[in-house]
Amino acid sequence: TGQTQNHSFSTDAAKVLKLMIHSLYSNKEIFLRELVSNAADASDKLRFKALSDDSLFEGDGNLRVRVSADKENNTLTISDNGIGMTHDQVIEHLGTIAKSGTAEFFSQLSGDQAADSQLIGQFGVGFYSAFIVADKVTVRSRAAGVLASEGVEWVSAGEGEFTTSTIEKSNRGTDIILHLKEEETEFADDWRLKSIVTKYSDHISVSVEMLTPEVPAVEAVEEQKDADGNITQPAVEAKEAVPAKWEPVNKATALWTREKADVSDDEYKEFYKHVSHDFADPLLWEHNKVEGKTEYTSLLYIPTKAPFDMYNREKQHGLKLYVQRVFIMDDAEQFMPTYLRFVKGLLDSNDLPLNVSREILQDNKVTQAIRKGCTKRVLKMLERLGKKDAEQYQVFWNEFGQVLKEGPAEDFGNKEQIGKLLRFASTNEDSAIQNVSLDQYVERMKEGQEKIYYVVADSFEAAKNSPHLEVFRKKGIEVLLMSDRIDEWLISHLTEFDGKQLQSVTRGGLDLGQMDDEETKEAQEKLEQEFDSVVTRIKASLEGKVKEVKLSQRLTDSPACIVTDENDMSSQMMKLMQSVGQ
Ligand code: ADP
Ligand code: MG
Repeated sequence: TGQTQNHSFSTDAAKVLKLMIHSLYSNKEIFLRELVSNAADASDKLRFKALSDDSLFEGDGNLRVRVSADKENNTLTISDNGIGMTHDQVIEHLGTIAKSGTAEFFSQLSGDQAADSQLIGQFGVGFYSAFIVADKVTVRSRAAGVLASEGVEWVSAGEGEFTTSTIEKSNRGTDIILHLKEEETEFADDWRLKSIVTKYSDHISVSVEMLTPEVPAVEAVEEQKDADGNITQPAVEAKEAVPAKWEPVNKATALWTREKADVSDDEYKEFYKHVSHDFADPLLWEHNKVEGKTEYTSLLYIPTKAPFDMYNREKQHGLKLYVQRVFIMDDAEQFMPTYLRFVKGLLDSNDLPLNVSREILQDNKVTQAIRKGCTKRVLKMLERLGKKDAEQYQVFWNEFGQVLKEGPAEDFGNKEQIGKLLRFASTNEDSAIQNVSLDQYVERMKEGQEKIYYVVADSFEAAKNSPHLEVFRKKGIEVLLMSDRIDEWLISHLTEFDGKQLQSVTRGGLDLGQMDDEETKEAQEKLEQEFDSVVTRIKASLEGKVKEVKLSQRLTDSPACIVTDENDMSSQMMKLMQSVGQ
């Protein structure tokens, strides 16, 4: 055993922990789910590494997680024989509570328990949830393939500091020992533990074992009778003592390999929390076995809440990849386009080699086929939700709509399909809520209307009050009101929907299709003659500043407005370019 080293957590750990404990307290048993989930991940990682180096199993390839309680000492131990951690890894993985973006995260906490626990869930507290029920946690670990003398012990009371030391540990893997708080003795009870494990960890592919209590030996007793021949003491057969034994308490079959009909909604939800490291329930999921040219199983989830750093396009995302049921990697981003980066879940392929790497995935026919299939599946699943449940769809749209708007630019082939999923504010309701689909817009189009009209502005208010809308309001033609940063980008790639052109109301000459009747045209000509001298004078005074001055019918109340020429960059796009330094 080596020197004990003292360390501080990287951020205001004590504060994070306090908040976390407070906001998750009403659901405190989830700590066990998190620790078992980590242990299962550690088994998956070892199995994967052992594919190329069998010796890492050290002769023990029977991977399992063990949960045991010690009532007398009020401790609970979760033990695995997975990949283990080195001294450096322990410091790296268990020494950084709340990895990046802690400051922003804190600014969002409100003190309201329900809301905060949602947020904390997105942030992912994982291992640290142990401190909900423990006032001290000891981790003893030894990485696969290193000497027994290179074990490491990590100890913390969750108050901003932890210590590490080198220890001797003969068996590979990690033990997490929780020194339970005085009031949390219920978690030292086997029955309670067993019910939590089956509730949360049934679907985990590694077996979770608990010790059945030992049954003492029974000595043989001979039958005894009294003088009348009545039995006063029945015979008892001798029984050998049954020693305490580790027995699996979960099903331990990978959930995605089961038949859909045999998996309950609750099981799907729990599994989601394991694969996504999210605390909240998913909004929607779909489980599919695909057979034929490429064979794979996919289990795809749409979360209910966006993670706090979703707009960071660099952030790791993607699906968990398995090949023939063996875990290969987390965050395989090759199977999902970037505009669907909020999708969580897994893929199990029968066609990829077990030694597949990110490089191989990058340029691979199988990858492309699966990616295409999964993309279509997600788009279909969302379309169905949109049709079936507008309220739920709105929840989705409010969280992820902005990301989805990147779609038409990224995925030209699915443009029409993505178009169906978009929602906008419009003059129909004049509300900032984005809930109008292009299909709805098309349905409400006026007779003779050929185009889908929109306006893009800096804010919803500016869009709604744009002078360009006056003539449309007068004629009762609906206009989509766009004001998100991404909208100009979206619209430059989505130029058409359902065979109808999308047309900015601020661009070029307004041709309201068949809707300009003869009468209007005549009136326009008459006006042009009448105002000829005014227009000429304005032109002269604005010379060099504008391209053209035109008499227009698009205004009813405002005297003048600025219009972009049909083929020029829009004023919104110009601002966007300026803001990125172009
Ligand atoms: P997450 O599971 O989301 O990565 P956690 O806080 O649950 O976050 O765990 C942090 C990290 O600590 C894990 O990613 C893993 O590297 C390491 N870790 C935790 N528990 C174990 C374990 N039982 N065996 C090996 N590594 C572990
Ligand atoms: Mg975890």
